[in-house]
Amino acid sequence: MRFDIVVRNARLPDSDGAIDVGVLDGRIAEQADDLGPGETELNAAGGLVAGGFVDPHVHLDKALVADQVPTNESRTLAEAIENDRERKRAESASDVKQRAERAIEMHVRHGCTRIRTHVDIDPIGGLTALEGVLAAREACSEIADVQIVVFPQEGIECAPGTEDLLEAALERDVDGIGGIPALERTDESKKRHVDTCLSLGARHDVAIDLHVDETDDPTARSAEYLAARTIEEGLEGRVTAGHVCALAGYDESHAERVIDLLAEADITVISNPGTNLMLQGQSDQHPKRRGITRVDQLREAGVTVASGQDNIQDAFYQYNNGHMLETASLIAHAAHLQAPAEQRAVWGMVTKNAASVLGVDHGMEPGTPAAFNVFQPSVRTLTDALRCRATPRAVIHDGAVIAETTGETTIG
Ligand SMILES: [Zn+2]
Repeated sequence: MRFDIVVRNARLPDSDGAIDVGVLDGRIAEQADDLGPGETELNAAGGLVAGGFVDPHVHLDKALVADQVPTNESRTLAEAIENDRERKRAESASDVKQRAERAIEMHVRHGCTRIRTHVDIDPIGGLTALEGVLAAREACSEIADVQIVVFPQEGIECAPGTEDLLEAALERDVDGIGGIPALERTDESKKRHVDTCLSLGARHDVAIDLHVDETDDPTARSAEYLAARTIEEGLEGRVTAGHVCALAGYDESHAERVIDLLAEADITVISNPGTNLMLQGQSDQHPKRRGITRVDQLREAGVTVASGQDNIQDAFYQYNNGHMLETASLIAHAAHLQAPAEQRAVWGMVTKNAASVLGVDHGMEPGTPAAFNVFQPSVRTLTDALRCRATPRAVIHDGAVIAETTGETTIG
């Protein structure tokens, strides 16, 4: 048999020895010593070969505009949303397409070929951002799988007309409904916002993935309400909650109740450490809260936790470049994760846990879609890759080598 690709001398995660990996028809076909020939042959030379990175939460439509928007003087989420409006009013679908393509390519270069993006749907930009991201997804279809969540960035009730726009957006080729209940004016309208998102998600049979309690306010209750309503509507396992920052500020007994509810509702929580560390805690004097949800207690309760880039050089966040090991490093520090088992957990937050958000298979087992990375021979373990935030030397997606990075540093 002739494989499409054979990667020789591959060191799989948690494996002592090296093995050959064969790829055929877009899937990992076989792992064995001395596999037969491949159309394309790569020699990993004992370097790490591991399932690719997955970004479960990013905003491709607003990526790479950091130099076009006013400085976020207060470093708050509220000012970031405000500062992005003028740009959004003037944006065109072709501008969004071009920036989203660049942001996808930044992910791909760093070994992340599966991405879920939220896309603003609101009365300011209408469906312009969606048109642009749909076009970028099409243009990049050979190098990345991009899921699109339509996202009411300006709220629903507090931005009249948004619900009709969401309905129109959900008629397009999209994958999920987003939400941001914290923007609504009253506790009752925040609840109606959650109800609207659940109902749209169920009716259109798409993923439900909300920005939840992205605030320090310890009275914020949307995570609790979302979990309870998910159970009541029988939507367990179909809902994702991004951020969940307020949980960090709850008293212990209330936090435990909410965590138990999130576990019962089988809601995956996505912590976005870059943006949360930067935008939360701004009203505090020292000691300042840092906005990172309770990763340790969520994991102990059996809640799947993933991490995303969220913002790439935009009005919300000046940094990020699509490198999921930067995100992994940030969450490792913010959530105090460094023991060997915790390093594997961190790796999982930007790989298999993130893949579960997208509902895609992940890993190196035969039969799994061939979306994996080949690292330099000096990078032999997950720990090595985490420590140096390694860029893969080869990126495989959909059974093809789609990116290669070369270059060595010479010292002296
Ligand atoms: Zn977000």
